[in-house]
Amino acid sequence: MGTPLEISAPAPNSSPAVAAAAPRRAPDPPATAAPKSAPAFIPTIAAPSLFEEKIENDSLERIRDDIGPNCTRCKLHKGRTKIVFGVGNPKADLVFVGEGPGRDEDAQGEPFVGRAGKLLTQMIEAMGLRRQDVYICNVVKCRPPENRLPEKDEIATCSPYLLRQLGVIRPKVICCLGSCSAQTMLQTTEGISRFRGQWFDFRGSKLIATYHPAYLLRNPAAKGEVWKDLQKVMAVLGLETPKRK
Ligand code: SF4
Repeated sequence: MGTPLEISAPAPNSSPAVAAAAPRRAPDPPATAAPKSAPAFIPTIAAPSLFEEKIENDSLERIRDDIGPNCTRCKLHKGRTKIVFGVGNPKADLVFVGEGPGRDEDAQGEPFVGRAGKLLTQMIEAMGLRRQDVYICNVVKCRPPENRLPEKDEIATCSPYLLRQLGVIRPKVICCLGSCSAQTMLQTTEGISRFRGQWFDFRGSKLIATYHPAYLLRNPAAKGEVWKDLQKVMAVLGLETPKRK
């Protein structure tokens, strides 16, 4: 079956210049790199004590309040315009987790609204869902400067809020978009091509990692691999592939 994720490839790298030392977002390995073996780790979350402590009667509203409108807990606050909390169905069966807001998201305060976001919306619709049926959020809630990847200390500071969000929503499936998200959730440094498309248990949810839409914009040939991953998600959720007009 072909992939319905048809979107024209953009001009390469139209983002702002990147500092030499800062790795760009979604530096996923080539889609042709076949997984060699399952990663030798058990996905456990060590750092986020907020999740471990299990806050009674937690809610998305409470998490948002706890973050506050002017969070300065990590250095990402310095360059942000808006905190990007997350959006979608608070009772979603499916949650997409990206790495962090980009320029458009920072301006609008909503995750995945730029070009990569449009592709994610296409991916969701290809699954027979609407954007408002799922929940979409990121590992960090403020935009890393120059679209660099979030750094360790930033992830350690902000990811407990993500884990609380997931603890409240309790989705059937968590789909990590890109290396940063997958490595954070699975607490591993393995490259995503080692475990992309494999299932993991995560606190009662099933977790799968696939490539970030921004990576697909630069590497449209990888869309087929992502579509295979999404079809696995659809199978778990009992979704049928919509008939193409
Ligand atoms: S990224 Fe998270 S912890 Fe850091 S300033 Fe933003 S909301 Fe606060």
